Amino acid sequence: MISKSKYPDIKIPQAGIYQYVTTRNEKFAAGLQDKLEFKRGDVLAIFSPNQVDYPIVLFGTIAAGGKVTTANPIYETTKLSYQLIDSGASILIVHPEVLEAAIEASIDAKIPASRVLLFGDNEIKGYKPYRSVLINDRDIEPIYYTPEEAKSTTAYLFYSSGTTGKPKDIEITHTNMVVRLAQVNSMECNLGPHSIIMAVLVATLQRLGIEYSSYDLNACTTAIIHSNFSVETICESIQTFKINRIYTTPPIILNLVNDPSAQQFDLSSVDKIICGGAPLSDQSERKFYNIFKIPISQGYGLTESGAITISPDTLKTTVPGSVGILIPNIKAKILSDDCHELGCNEPAELWIHGPNIMKSYLNNKVATDAAIDRDGFFNTGDIVYVDEQGNYFIVDRNKEMIQGLGFHVAPSELESILLTHAAVSDAAVVGYYSEKDATELPTAYVTIKNGYKQSRALAEEIQSFVDEKVLPYKRLRGGILFIDRIPKNASGKILRRLLKESLKNDMKK
Ligand code: AMP
Repeated sequence: MISKSKYPDIKIPQAGIYQYVTTRNEKFAAGLQDKLEFKRGDVLAIFSPNQVDYPIVLFGTIAAGGKVTTANPIYETTKLSYQLIDSGASILIVHPEVLEAAIEASIDAKIPASRVLLFGDNEIKGYKPYRSVLINDRDIEPIYYTPEEAKSTTAYLFYSSGTTGKPKDIEITHTNMVVRLAQVNSMECNLGPHSIIMAVLVATLQRLGIEYSSYDLNACTTAIIHSNFSVETICESIQTFKINRIYTTPPIILNLVNDPSAQQFDLSSVDKIICGGAPLSDQSERKFYNIFKIPISQGYGLTESGAITISPDTLKTTVPGSVGILIPNIKAKILSDDCHELGCNEPAELWIHGPNIMKSYLNNKVATDAAIDRDGFFNTGDIVYVDEQGNYFIVDRNKEMIQGLGFHVAPSELESILLTHAAVSDAAVVGYYSEKDATELPTAYVTIKNGYKQSRALAEEIQSFVDEKVLPYKRLRGGILFIDRIPKNASGKILRRLLKESLKNDMKK
């Protein structure tokens, strides 16, 4: 059964992103062209937490005909170097907080120091502020795209961790991004110049932030930007600025529910919260509503697709626990393992079709062909079902990648470290979804070598052995569990879904 969005299709804008989102970033674009010889198709990388100048660089680069790649500010040097080299970035814009990692990575990527520029007003260690590039006395000729060019020209290169630990580079075209804005626009039609929005998306800001800042500029709303999250600063900001709409993720909803200090603030200006990026249970959704009387609209999507579903606007039509119904211009099918289209209430993998789906994984035809079928349907890798009313429910993830606190963790990276421990003979890492933390916690099953005894002390020793070697978000926060044999298929592939099933029971013990 192929289902189609209940929302009426919208007219697909026939424009490049710059034409769609009119901005004041020409000065940066002019500087890129005149002072840095930035040409059409060149790539600029941004390595920074979210902050107000982000959109200037973003849209300035697009106006100059370039592509933007955004790197997560918690990346260590090797990951950043990989992204800079793989994307072919020739300019790097950096927040001073993360300058050290950026300097090393820019050397690896052979980006000269004169093309590494800083957010903020100050020169640091010889690195100049990006504002030194701005040209005030010349208007640039923005680059326009024909509808065909907009469909095939890449505007953004977003990185997502691959299952083997190597990130995949997702190519988003001008048309993809413009369509995403128009789709969200059609659902959020009551926002306008009177509205004040706040995006608190933690680690995914570099990707979703782009969509929201574009959306925000387009709808002429006022945006309040926070680079960090604390219950107090967020609540204070809502109370002071009378924020109407918040875009956020489940861990933040749970923080607000669980921290009594949130209830001391006046949050009544908020008419709705859009929450997505990870599962939020219907119990948490109800609990939040009972305390704050603010409806939550869940949204679901991927970097490769942008939003796919969103809960309808009114509380009456929102089904708790559901991620909503298909947004305009999207078709979906739910396919069993043997590729049969299933009907309502039968969970299996979701495939979607629409003008918002990425162009490809850069220079990776094998991965692109595996993700997009001959009819143009994209495999989300998520196990979902849809009820008779068209409400979608996410049941599980078929992908190996563990989603932790807004970041992806590749199980294979942790497994290869586990296998270097003297006591470990085999290992498999899976994500345990913790309701308390509203995130998946990397958890390891290990088999141990003859001569070693299963004990709590050994489990703790193995856990610290791994945790010392990885970034905080990759730590085995779900712990270590012993198992006699790691379940694998005939070709030796770890049967992670079986392990995830056992994990649910093992964690209850
Ligand atoms: P990313 O590409 O990093 O945005 O991750 C996309 C993945 O996040 C999806 O494939 C889902 O597994 C998960 N995801 C996104 N939104 C939701 C949601 N509302 N509920 C459950 N899982 C979600």
